[in-house]
Amino acid sequence: MKCPKCRAENRDDSKFCGNCGAPLGSGVGAGPDAASLTKTLKPRFTS
Ligand SMILES: [Zn+2]
Repeated sequence: MKCPKCRAENRDDSKFCGNCGAPLGSGVGAGPDAASLTKTLKPRFTS
């Protein structure tokens, strides 16, 4: 897959870009999984 940051070609199973080190697979920065995880955990801690 191509790196979203520097557009270098990386292996499909790579989690990070071999050129610039940016995370691959779930866009730039934190993926949607991390966001939904925080949303799920928040109510538990609040209550
Ligand atoms: Zn890169």
